[in-house]
Amino acid sequence: MTLQVNINGTLVPKEDAKISVFDHGLLYGDGVFEGMRSYGGRVFRLEQHLRRLWDSARAICLDIPISREEMADRVNTTLQANGIQDGYVRLIVTRGIGTLGLDAHLTRDPQVIVITDHIALYPREYYDEGLKIVTASTVRNHPGALNPRIKSLNYLNNILAKIEGHQAGCVEALMLNHLGEVSECTGDNIFLVRDGILRTPPISAGILEGVTRQAVIELAKEEGIPVEEITLTRHDVYSADECFLTGSAAEVVPVVMVDERTIGEGKPGPITRRLIDRFHRLVRSSE
Ligand code: PMP
Repeated sequence: MTLQVNINGTLVPKEDAKISVFDHGLLYGDGVFEGMRSYGGRVFRLEQHLRRLWDSARAICLDIPISREEMADRVNTTLQANGIQDGYVRLIVTRGIGTLGLDAHLTRDPQVIVITDHIALYPREYYDEGLKIVTASTVRNHPGALNPRIKSLNYLNNILAKIEGHQAGCVEALMLNHLGEVSECTGDNIFLVRDGILRTPPISAGILEGVTRQAVIELAKEEGIPVEEITLTRHDVYSADECFLTGSAAEVVPVVMVDERTIGEGKPGPITRRLIDRFHRLVRSSE
């Protein structure tokens, strides 16, 4: 069965899912997006993703032409049309067609696109054995230039860092902010465990406020694990007992080596394992 893509409320086969080359989403990366997961046909924390999408749009002065209810409807319709239970959902809102100039006022018809697909998970061994990552030399966007809280269609900052990761033989890369502090990875948030305390950089470090990050913070608190959102340096990473990443696509994935330094015992730690287990149970209970 051909995958159906929802463009402006209409389902079209993926071969016919096209938008104009004059769309500022293409010309300038001018637009916003979300990446979400469905489990058992239901999107995990859809409300939070929609809230972040609307916040991102507001921050770039983009009016999303439909209501959140309508968006939620389109997401569910598209998942159903494709018969997807456990999958990945991409929401995109572009600035729309404009001139070849930058002027956002001269654009019209923002395109609202919903893509649902089967999920290509990381291989099982990443979860069993943990990832090896490196620090990228590309600095995370300065919040005063393009705030990482905005999930905009311009992801070059992250892509450049990810290329560095690949060049070093890694699937993820750690990014530091303009102050040299730990921010996040190219498509995931980062957590450390030291002496039983779970630590993650605060939003003010210049990061995306991950939906999975929030879920893990809640789960840790329920488990009685102290959580701190606190400034972290590379030294904190190297001297951590445990490290893991969180993201909608990756879920919770252990990290066992950073910049050739072994983290803790060099294998996924007990708190990481506990949180992975809790996270799996949470998404299945679709809370
Ligand atoms: N940081 C960045 C830069 C990301 O792109 C993502 C993935 N959307 C995340 C963190 C994780 O966010 P979430 O848990 O909402 O997927």
